[in-house]
Amino acid sequence: MDTYLICIILYMVSCIFFVLGIKKLGKADTARKGNLYSSAGMLIAVISVLISQDVISGGFIAYLVIFLALAAGSAVGFIWARKVEMTGMPELVALFNGFGGLSSLLVALSQNIAGVAEDSFTAVTLGLTIAIGAIAFTGSVVAWGKLSGKMFKKAKPIPFKNALNGALCVIGLVGIIMYAAAFDGGAGIAGIIITTAVFLILGFTLVINIGGGDMPVIISFLNALSGLAAAFAGFPIGNTVLIVSGCLVGTSGLILTLIMCKAMNRSFFSLLFKSFGAKKSSSAASGEQKEPRAMSVEDAYLVLEAAKNVVIVPGYGMAVAQAQHAVKELCDKMEDNGTEVNFAIHPVAGRMPGHMNVLLAEANVPYEMLKTSDDINPQMDNVDVAIVIGANDVVNPSAVNDESSPLYGMPIVEAFRARTVFVLKRGKGTGFSGIENPLFTNDNTAMIYGDAKQTVSALVSEFDG
Ligand code: NDP
Repeated sequence: MDTYLICIILYMVSCIFFVLGIKKLGKADTARKGNLYSSAGMLIAVISVLISQDVISGGFIAYLVIFLALAAGSAVGFIWARKVEMTGMPELVALFNGFGGLSSLLVALSQNIAGVAEDSFTAVTLGLTIAIGAIAFTGSVVAWGKLSGKMFKKAKPIPFKNALNGALCVIGLVGIIMYAAAFDGGAGIAGIIITTAVFLILGFTLVINIGGGDMPVIISFLNALSGLAAAFAGFPIGNTVLIVSGCLVGTSGLILTLIMCKAMNRSFFSLLFKSFGAKKSSSAASGEQKEPRAMSVEDAYLVLEAAKNVVIVPGYGMAVAQAQHAVKELCDKMEDNGTEVNFAIHPVAGRMPGHMNVLLAEANVPYEMLKTSDDINPQMDNVDVAIVIGANDVVNPSAVNDESSPLYGMPIVEAFRARTVFVLKRGKGTGFSGIENPLFTNDNTAMIYGDAKQTVSALVSEFDG
């Protein structure tokens, strides 16, 4: 059997592993296997490249370059993935999306330098790879900066953003057309330079004004773009596994984007074309300053001890404090005391989809106790105590009752409707969106200040007597 045929068969096998991997990633209990299957698929794809005729004919230099790149990439990936805290995972994922876009962009530019485009179809696929890869790269770097809080968190809205983005799109498409029309001439090279520069800027201007509840959606969209860029990159270099895996990432990312849009009550259009935080909420603008009411753990225990039903609303702060095991203990104590306990899980609580589910599953909280906001909200008026643990934006009532708030329209866990609300947080920090939360100054809210894990453990100790 010649190497070409072996490569094709290996590519097919790796594609099967990718499909199985995605399927298994769909459920929490098979997700680990899904990761293993996908890694195996990637390993087989790498092996098939190594034994392909193109690489064999490149000789020692080709192998040296590939191994150096593999060693460097694997070392960085390995060290980074081991070092990253659970709370830093989302920004790592955002950055990896960006690297995916950048590598497709570099593949397309190198193919352009190598003069691979001999017809307009190949030129168009190279142009699209560059365009999508560039948006995914700069857009993801901005998302990483916002998520990690290192950059762009408080970026001012860009004036005439939509007109600017529209103009950039048109100029970039002209660049692709120039390249497709004259791929090996001076105009073609100018077209490629324009396309690269313009779409790099577009990635930046598209994402810079997105914030709050829209961030998870845009991250999922950028992930889809990095997949699509890889799929387009597969055409000029004739790599089937790149096309298939790129399409899998692209389509699953797009499906997730649409699901998240629906969960967040946002249209895909408004996500891309509106600026987050452009207007100030009326409560923030009017400068009303009411002080939140603080409560001690001892007093909070007395209320919990008498409660018939409690809803726990976890958020990003629970992840920061790694309080999930203590929360499970508190939950057990309250149940032993005859209290009905449920968890209200908001779709974007934390910093990545499913963040809370993963943490609570790690602490062995039974899956049946995890309810969605839609399940819990209709019963909220009859809930004795809602315990908000390190959540902020996802319980912000401005989203339902302040039309001028940038969060308005975002579904929330309506904890403010419970008879009593305990908010566990360290101080007066805002949530990811940076927007003040009127829940904290409501008459039925009591703040229990401190690190969430310490506060919850202290409550457990009170139950122990
Ligand atoms: P938020 O980021 O809104 O609020 C977290 C709160 O936790 C802060 O107000 C902080 O207050 C508190 N906190 C931090 N550390 C601790 C600690 N050790 N102990 C106790 N409290 C702590 O979290 P939410 O989960 O409510 O909302 C998620 C936000 O992130 C949304 O805006 C969402 O759009 C966004 N996002 C979500 C993504 C996802 O996929 N889920 C991805 C990207 C963004 P203090 O400092 O005073 O303690």
